[in-house]
Amino acid sequence: MNRYTISFLLFVMCVVSNFLHAQNYYGKSKELPLNQTKPFGWLQQVLVKQAEGLGGNPTVSGYPFNTRMWTEDIQIPVGHAGRAYWPYEQTAYFLDGTYRCGQLIKNQALVEFANQNFNHTLSHITENGILGQNKADDWARVVYFRGLMAKYEITKNQSILKKMSSHFLKTPRLFNNGRALFSIEPILWLYDKTGNEKLLNLAIHSFHKSKSASEGGEYDKAKKNDNLPSKLLDNMLSEKIPHGHGVSNMEQVKIPALLYMYTGKERYLNASINQFNKIVKHHMLVDGCPSSIEHLEGKAVDLAHETCDIIDLSWSAGYLLMATNNGHWGDLVERCIFNAGFGSMDKDFKSHQYYSAPNQPVAAEETSQFNVKLNWGGMALGRMCYRTGHDTECCTGNIQRMFPSYASRMWLKKADNSGIIAALYGSSEFNFNHKGKEIKIQQKTQYPFNERIEFRFEIEKVSKFSFTMRIPKWCSKPELYLNGKKIRKINIEKGMATIDRTFKNNDLIELQLPMETKLTAWGEKNEGFAIERGPLVYSLPVNHKIITFPYIGDPKLKDFPNKLMYPASNWNYTLDIKDITDVNVIENKLDSNTYPWSVTNSPVKIQVPAKKVLNWRLDGTKHLKKFPDKLKLSPNREYIELVPLGSTYLRMTLFPKTN
Ligand SMILES: [Zn+2]
Repeated sequence: MNRYTISFLLFVMCVVSNFLHAQNYYGKSKELPLNQTKPFGWLQQVLVKQAEGLGGNPTVSGYPFNTRMWTEDIQIPVGHAGRAYWPYEQTAYFLDGTYRCGQLIKNQALVEFANQNFNHTLSHITENGILGQNKADDWARVVYFRGLMAKYEITKNQSILKKMSSHFLKTPRLFNNGRALFSIEPILWLYDKTGNEKLLNLAIHSFHKSKSASEGGEYDKAKKNDNLPSKLLDNMLSEKIPHGHGVSNMEQVKIPALLYMYTGKERYLNASINQFNKIVKHHMLVDGCPSSIEHLEGKAVDLAHETCDIIDLSWSAGYLLMATNNGHWGDLVERCIFNAGFGSMDKDFKSHQYYSAPNQPVAAEETSQFNVKLNWGGMALGRMCYRTGHDTECCTGNIQRMFPSYASRMWLKKADNSGIIAALYGSSEFNFNHKGKEIKIQQKTQYPFNERIEFRFEIEKVSKFSFTMRIPKWCSKPELYLNGKKIRKINIEKGMATIDRTFKNNDLIELQLPMETKLTAWGEKNEGFAIERGPLVYSLPVNHKIITFPYIGDPKLKDFPNKLMYPASNWNYTLDIKDITDVNVIENKLDSNTYPWSVTNSPVKIQVPAKKVLNWRLDGTKHLKKFPDKLKLSPNREYIELVPLGSTYLRMTLFPKTN
């Protein structure tokens, strides 16, 4: 068979399978298998660093990443805090991220590592169809199933669908207790693939019934009833300020939107949108992630967030993006990953923070106002340090998902099959099949450091489809060029611009997103200034003194030091400017091989006049103080140089207002 025959057969199979599973999909776009995207530029570089760093060397993170993960009955070490399901949740994040990372950069060792776990699970099923180790709870399985979902999308291994369906349906029960509710994500994914209405009913009834699981036996015979009352839905639709655990909130916020995608019921979608907007309004920090000292904490200028929340916010916003095709959700993902995401990790992917903050002049064991007593025993100590692993191990697993998840939502397929959306930006090559024709789009860019994004199309002959690009809200004057000719009128709908045409080989679209430099206000009373340019927030990098403390034992560990960081330069400044015209943006030409998330190699720097705040100091316990009530300023004006927050370790991002 030649490639055209194969393409044609694949096309016929697609049509047939759509016909067989005629379930309605009300979302506006869908993800495509990860291996259709090939990352380049910084995205490829950071994925390779992940593979060479914590992703490819799990044992350096210690327990539970030094176990055989989902292939073994993991024992919690004596004296170690935690619940029985935790190591499965933590390693599930790791396996999902590792599998996706391996597929994206064609690293067979990573794929193999995850596959050993997946294959073990698929071949060890209990009599009642349950997948995975006994101690794993429904929530840990939600996390783990994301890895199986990615594997299915690439391999089309039908036994995954069969076994996952059996897992959810063989033993009748509801998934409505605590985080078990998040099972609605894999259940609806399975419904999408199989068209089995029992799965849709199970998802709806799990959401609406707050009964205990034992009462749910008849759900599969029940009529689909999405008009049942739901306290959760009412709460999400209300003005009630979201509170509680950050991860639970960020995972939960997408659930009604998923139900909307398969029922078309607007009330579900509105609930997710309203809840997300409330989280942003009441808890969002300048770097794109809500405060979450485990729990949502408001908007004070000295707050931090848990690394898991960065990934969970991005993952959920990605679903909102697919539910609506509204570019706003893509803006949120980029802001969160480029700023909070890169800001939470060692740029070589060899250590990371559990809590990270826009303002962190110190990241040491005794630092931070966040050394608190934990519900499950012990103290959260040194969670702002850059470590290979932390006292609670979720973020070490979850950070493996950060960039693979970003890559998986960069390119989306329109639900009506009319074309493709470039939803999140980054250098990459994307392959897809449109009505039997193989099409390749090369995206070349140094975004988010540079304003220009180029799309070049490779097509066998010609193909008619629509090509949609996200136009970020921060950009007021976007420009589009088709084969060198400026498009005079760009139609932007919900933050998206579409070109609908018959594309031919070598067509070139250039998108210019001029990045204005802006001064923005943050904090509880807008008492802090930040400087932003495009999707990036800029920070003063604080020089650091490092004390390393490698664990003893594994010789590999000398290459993976845990770091305590103390400030070795001034950090206590306020900006001495009247308005944004007083700052000076310096763009350095970037060699495409240079990793740009680096203070020294930063492609963009912003010089700002500033004055030292003499009465703003770290006290003896090294807690970062909020801004002093009355600022005592040095008379001397200095120029400080800001770089993208994501490239810094110690930093100051919010500066106190002087009046
Ligand atoms: Zn975490």
